[in-house]
Amino acid sequence: MTFQELGLEPMLLKAVTEMGFENPTPIQEQTIPQLQGKSTDMVALAQTGTGKTAAFGLPLLTKLDLNSRFTQSLILAPTRELCVQISKDLINYSKFLNGLRVTAVYGGAPIMGQIRDLKAGSQVVVATPGRLIDLIERKAIDLSHVDVVVLDEADEMLNMGFKDDLDEILSNTPPTKNTWLFSATMPREVERIASKYMESPLEISVGKKNSGNENIQHIYYTVNQRDRYAALKRIADFYPDIFGIVFCRTKAETQEVADNLIKDGYNADALHGDLSQAQRDLVMKRFRSRTLQMLVATDVAARGIDVNNVTHVINYNLPEEAENYTHRSGRTGRAGKTGIAIAIVTPREVNKIRDIERIIQNTFTKADVPDGAAVCEKQLFNLVNKLHTVEVKDEEIEKYLPKIYEELKDLSKEELIKRFVSEEFNRFYTYYQNSQDLNISNEGGNNGKTTRFFINMGQLDGFNRNSIKDFLVEISGLNARLIFNIDVKNSFSFFETENKCVDEFLALNKKGIEFNARVISFEVSKAKASGGYGEKRSYGGGSREDRGRSSYGGGERKSYGGGERKSYGGGERKSYGGGESRSYSGGGERRSSFGGNKEGGERKSYGGGERRSFDKPSGEKSFSGNREGAERRKRFTK
Ligand code: AMP
Repeated sequence: MTFQELGLEPMLLKAVTEMGFENPTPIQEQTIPQLQGKSTDMVALAQTGTGKTAAFGLPLLTKLDLNSRFTQSLILAPTRELCVQISKDLINYSKFLNGLRVTAVYGGAPIMGQIRDLKAGSQVVVATPGRLIDLIERKAIDLSHVDVVVLDEADEMLNMGFKDDLDEILSNTPPTKNTWLFSATMPREVERIASKYMESPLEISVGKKNSGNENIQHIYYTVNQRDRYAALKRIADFYPDIFGIVFCRTKAETQEVADNLIKDGYNADALHGDLSQAQRDLVMKRFRSRTLQMLVATDVAARGIDVNNVTHVINYNLPEEAENYTHRSGRTGRAGKTGIAIAIVTPREVNKIRDIERIIQNTFTKADVPDGAAVCEKQLFNLVNKLHTVEVKDEEIEKYLPKIYEELKDLSKEELIKRFVSEEFNRFYTYYQNSQDLNISNEGGNNGKTTRFFINMGQLDGFNRNSIKDFLVEISGLNARLIFNIDVKNSFSFFETENKCVDEFLALNKKGIEFNARVISFEVSKAKASGGYGEKRSYGGGSREDRGRSSYGGGERKSYGGGERKSYGGGERKSYGGGESRSYSGGGERRSSFGGNKEGGERKSYGGGERRSFDKPSGEKSFSGNREGAERRKRFTK
């Protein structure tokens, strides 16, 4: 089907052909013959990017009397950006028509200039609802000649709280007008507007009712909450040519994510309501011109973003309202292009994915966050590809080449290539060589890739999550990134590590390392790793503590002797629970520094059985010992 076959007016046909529109999009095929020169109401379900501006804009232009300056068409849109875009599109379509005047009026800009433009007379006014109400109240606009009202992105306008404004505007326009409503989704409020203000509207839907854009692939990654940002970075590294929008839930989160990305060397910036209009305009200008690769935005700020060729929409956090997902993902896959919408979710949020699937009538694919090796490979081949496409400035580089050839003459072609790509590859390889697998199962399990450990140290030993991590790093010699999901309980704790590190922790048992005169013990926890929701059920608080006490408490310590034993605590304990500094002392020395059970009663010592007596409160002495321990801990953790 061609525009000509649809019967598009010759002057408009000429304009759209010049704009490079070869064939009508599906929605244009349906609206143009039905609306051009006809008098009807219409409800159209259409996403952004489907060509809906031309779908209403072209027929609307055929209905205008360009010899009159009365406002004959009113287009309402949710945002300033969209108003401006619609106005520009209309001007472009009317290139070969004489006398069309379009005025865009929206909030956040001086009203006086807009009033002046309206006074001069425009056949078409494109407005945000709030500003239009203001203009109506100031009697700056005459709507009595309005013949067509277009509600663009009606669901968005309602989401933004314009319900009363829309009611007021619609009742301020002549009852004889036609209303054309476009919406990406059809919530009850939109249906209410349709039934209240329209008469037997023509119903048009591109794709299934409420269905999302077919060109968009929806995928989600399940990760732990603490790995959300790491997952985002992996995505950015895995798609070196990404041109995407990262959606966050709040302004603060948006700013934080953008700041972190910038700090980590990514080409990103924030767009949210706490920025001034000038700042927002600048960010949008950079994004539009593709100087900016990743726009980190809130839902509200990103409304009406009409940038083409967005490759990825990333839901850093899913939207509060599942309906908003459609608007987010609709920023990619526009104008026939394909796009990828990625959601980063925790196991608890997987049910939200199911809600969204119902709304978009499409399924998500659970995918794995790319691992370090995949990122390195992708980056390597990206570099290789760039060698083909790089612009060579022959003239400018000419003068350096003889010297460079001379310098490199001892290297073969293979050697040269290897060294050249290594220069870039090493950077990613170094960063990713010990990288963690960020993926977990939807149930919070670890896909069998991590192991949960029990350790017989807890808050009573003055530990908190940070200090126990430092402690574990210290005694295991492992990288801090390999110790995670730490849960510090009263007298014991849990932590998780990658399976490859299990032997390292179990080997520590053999060394008889002591802390507070107790030998530290590691056990593989039977509770489920990642999330560890099963812990309590498996061990049941008290019983676990009992086990801890009977196995490791008090005098039993003595049975773990031997020259090899390392002891944390006592005189050396400053770092881990009191004392002066951490150094390891052998058996005899240890006794002299904190003297076992006998000295345990003294405050400066946090030794052995006495500590455990907190479980059954046994008086002032032990209590103050604990408090002191906590104070010291505080100092240590700073
Ligand atoms: P819209 O849904 O109106 O925001 O349009 C999305 C993009 O598609 C815009 O950049 C339009 O310029 C472009 N577009 C609209 N209709 C056509 C068409 N028939 N052929 C090619 N591109 C189009």
